[in-house]
Amino acid sequence: MTDAPVPLPQATPPQDQDTLHRRGLMFILSSPSGAGKTTIARKLLAHDAALHVSVSATTRPTRPGEVDGKDYHFVDQARFNEMVEQNEFFEWATVFGHSYGTPKGQIRAGLKQGLDYLFDIDWQGTQQLYQKAQADVVRVFILPPSLDELSRRLVGRGTDSAEVIAARMARAQAEISHWDGYDYVVINDDVDVCFQKVREILAAERMRRTRQTGLIDFVRELTRG
Ligand code: 5GP
Repeated sequence: MTDAPVPLPQATPPQDQDTLHRRGLMFILSSPSGAGKTTIARKLLAHDAALHVSVSATTRPTRPGEVDGKDYHFVDQARFNEMVEQNEFFEWATVFGHSYGTPKGQIRAGLKQGLDYLFDIDWQGTQQLYQKAQADVVRVFILPPSLDELSRRLVGRGTDSAEVIAARMARAQAEISHWDGYDYVVINDDVDVCFQKVREILAAERMRRTRQTGLIDFVRELTRG
């Protein structure tokens, strides 16, 4: 082997580029219900301490076990309307008769500090977020391997009536039709493989040059004199 070691620049280069200052990103996971998005999102959060959850505001009633401020900010319709009027949301939507919205303030400050946020939102929310924060947004869509498998997964949950499942299947097909509004599409035929792929997308997006704001000083040091 003739490869000579590359001389180190005077400034000690970080082993991991992530130690340079970096602008955070907004990582959106969408999928039709039953395609495995929630499982993937949970795994990501469990394996990646640098990933934060964006806590949405909603007018829907709290479910057992949910915590205000952690799962959602639970607000009444009047407060929600006020937040809309005061332009406090990146995006908002009505889903199953309730209002949901992504508050701006905390996320804007976090992105500046280099925090990454995970969003579990539908394609409409994705579009609105993308329009308002294009450069910070990474859009990932998860597809089921087949409609039969999607149906099996929805039935397998054992939580819904045949009617509800039929409605979810129809909604799923409508969601799937928006597949081309995403940067990445991953087919979830094996949850671990799908998870690995999603992690790789996140890792690569973190290294995007435009996000690595600390590179300017680092490279200036490398090219000095
Ligand atoms: P759930 O009430 O079951 O927690 O959520 C119902 C739906 O609302 C899910 O499909 C979820 O993706 C969507 N949702 C949750 N938060 C937001 C949000 O802030 N904006 C939008 N557009 N959808 C949301």
